[in-house]
Amino acid sequence: MPKIIVYGAQWCPDCRRTKDFLDKQKIDFEYVNVDVSLEASALVEQINKGKRIIPTLLIDGKSYTNPQNHELSKVLGLNPNGKIVLYGADWCGDCRRAKRFLTDNGLNFLSIDVDENPDAASYVEQINKGKRIIPTLLINDIPYTNPDNPTLQKVLQIEENVQDRIYDVLIIGGGAAGLTTAIYAQRDKFDSIILERKNIGGNAFITKSIENYPGFTKVSGPDLMDKMAEQVTILGAQIETGIEVKNIHKLNDYFKIDTNQKSFKSKSIVVATGSTYRTLGIDGEQDMIGAGVHFCATCDGAFYRDKEVIVIGGGNSALEEGMFLAGFCKKVKIVHRGENFSATETYIEKLKSFTNIEVFLNHTPLSFNANNTGIFQSATIQNNQNQQNIQLTADGVFIFIGLIPNTQSFNGILNLSSTQHILTKNLNQTNVPGIFAAGDCRHGAIAQVAAATGEGVVASYGVREYLKG
Ligand SMILES: Cc1cc2nc3c(=O)[nH]c(=O)nc-3n(C[C@H](O)[C@H](O)[C@H](O)COP(=O)(O)OP(=O)(O)OC[C@H]3O[C@@H](n4cnc5c(N)ncnc54)[C@H](O)[C@@H]3O)c2cc1C
Repeated sequence: MPKIIVYGAQWCPDCRRTKDFLDKQKIDFEYVNVDVSLEASALVEQINKGKRIIPTLLIDGKSYTNPQNHELSKVLGLNPNGKIVLYGADWCGDCRRAKRFLTDNGLNFLSIDVDENPDAASYVEQINKGKRIIPTLLINDIPYTNPDNPTLQKVLQIEENVQDRIYDVLIIGGGAAGLTTAIYAQRDKFDSIILERKNIGGNAFITKSIENYPGFTKVSGPDLMDKMAEQVTILGAQIETGIEVKNIHKLNDYFKIDTNQKSFKSKSIVVATGSTYRTLGIDGEQDMIGAGVHFCATCDGAFYRDKEVIVIGGGNSALEEGMFLAGFCKKVKIVHRGENFSATETYIEKLKSFTNIEVFLNHTPLSFNANNTGIFQSATIQNNQNQQNIQLTADGVFIFIGLIPNTQSFNGILNLSSTQHILTKNLNQTNVPGIFAAGDCRHGAIAQVAAATGEGVVASYGVREYLKG
């Protein structure tokens, strides 16, 4: 819990109310009597611009002047069915998803940013046995590591609601393609909903800086995606996060969409599920995910400020993320199994300006090795020419070796290519009339944000033709 100081006086009823409230909630606080401490009295006046208003509270250094009990509940994460503390960070997608779930369900939670609070960061590592996983939630003092929405629903005893509404279009995936589809569908006056299993924004959200989206010389991925989501919301589309689509059934005149929570009904569907990081499949990789092994520099890079990291891969993403890490890490070692990088010349040229990047071309990663507490400490890589093994020590490793389409749930329903991408025809129509595909999950798609938005437009035209026809 945060450090709480209550500045008050014996005679003040609101001070008594506040103290009683905190005591009842079993929350520790320091009490300072302003009638006894001149220093405290001066501080209260300074906080309240010359006025001597009590109680004045300092909660983790932030001041609150005579807060009512419900305001304190909000700040401290107190609810009738439990106290909720969320340890997270601004850049963390799952933190946003969990926060949105709590907010949507009217729950108070105390949000602690691990980037701003080193004690909180250590606490998260301690709870997760050395692993740096966020969000970590404390619900009535019991820790939950990155709980999904069904777990939160169960633990917080939130009643499940039944969805009877039939939407015109249900969009699976809240990335650039899905959001654009929703913008066009809403403007066509179609009642639309986006179901997103994690947080809104997709892969673009985890991209620190996008420099090739028209209209912006440079834009942060989260900013761009927040703007798209805002536009979708303003136009009136519904967005539900933490909902993973598992199956689709064709009924008479609509589809039934089964998810990890409830079922939805819609007259048409756009699959815009994008793609996910490919793994190496080597020893130690799975065991140390979150304990030194990562797939997103924007998400987890901050843990490695002034430390050494290894980057695996040789394409545009690997080099871009490697250079991003080199901006604040002590050293970045890039390992690529090819003789040359497959990235474009622009990235290769830019890489040369970094003095803290060391490159290991023509080396294949064999295993990731842990220290005696299970945390990553080195990678064994093999020189492809002389088969000699090298132990590369580092504090963490980031893997950027490509993406696989998120189409597993649609295997057997939609026709897929040999690479598991969804096959489409005119206006992004799949083999099932009424189901369309857009973005990185679609066969033939160009994996770029601008392209994904265009795919969303095309799919929305397909939907329009289908619904009007
Ligand atoms: C590291 C990195 C850097 C990049 N840099 C750039 C760049 O600089 N410029 C550029 O133009 N492009 C860049 N890209 C590519 C760009 O991010 C993608 O092309 C774009 O995000 C694709 O959008 P999308 O909507 O098709 O898919 P995604 O962004 O992948 O979104 C799909 C969404 O669907 C959700 N989903 C998946 N399955 C389900 C399910 N069953 N139920 C519910 N939801 C589901 C996912 O959680 C995800 O949020 C980068 C990609 C990466 C990974």
